[in-house]
Amino acid sequence: MKIVQCWDDGVEDDIRLCELLRSFGAQATFNLNAGLHEKKRGGSWLFREVKEVRKLAKDELVSVYDGFEIANHTLTHPSADKITPTEWKREVLEGRARLEDLFGRRVAGFAYPFGHCPPHAVEAVREAGHLYARTCKNATPSFPPEDPMLLAADCHFLNPCFWELYEKAKSVGSSAFYFWGHSYELCSEDDWKNFEEKIRRLQLDPDAEWGSLSGLFE
Ligand SMILES: [Zn+2]
Repeated sequence: MKIVQCWDDGVEDDIRLCELLRSFGAQATFNLNAGLHEKKRGGSWLFREVKEVRKLAKDELVSVYDGFEIANHTLTHPSADKITPTEWKREVLEGRARLEDLFGRRVAGFAYPFGHCPPHAVEAVREAGHLYARTCKNATPSFPPEDPMLLAADCHFLNPCFWELYEKAKSVGSSAFYFWGHSYELCSEDDWKNFEEKIRRLQLDPDAEWGSLSGLFE
C-alpha cells in the first residue's frame, strides 16, 4: 500500500515539516496559492488565537519544497461558492500557471480551498486538466476514487482514529492510505514528537511505501 500525504497553504512550519519528511525519505504534496506569497514572509493570521502563522516568501518556495510535489490550491484561496464562476476559473487557471512558472515543472493536482466544491467549480478544475482534486471529505478506502475531481482523503493527520483507519485501508486491500493537514497545526514540541513517531511507524511498516499523490493517477 502506498502512503500519500498532502499539506496546505505554504506556511513557515512547512520548512520544519519538509526537513522531517526528508529525513525519513517520505514523499508529500504541498498545495499552494501562487498569488499569496510576497517578497517577504507575511499574510499572517492567528491559529487558535495564540499561534501566529505566516506564509512563506515567494523566493524561498523553490528551495523549501525541493524534492516534493506541488499542487494548485487556487491563486488566492477563495471559497468557490463566494465568487463568480468566471472568477473561479481565473483562480484555477492562473494559480496553476504561476506555480508551473515558479517551479518550472508540471503541476497536476488540485485542492479546493475550504473543501468547497460546487459542481461548476469541479468542472472548471477538470477542464483545466488537473489529474485530481482533493475535497475535505474523508473515506476509507480513499482509492480508487469514484471521481478523481472529488477526491477524499482517508483522514486528517490528527484524526484520533488514524491507526484504525490505516489498518482498515490495509485490510480492505486499498492501493493507498492518504492523510492531509496543515503544518501550523503542529503547535508544541510534543505535537512534533508525536507526528515524528507517526511517520516513523509508517516508515517501519513492511507492507507500506511512500507514494506520490499524482503518481496514483498517472
Ligand atoms: Zn487552504
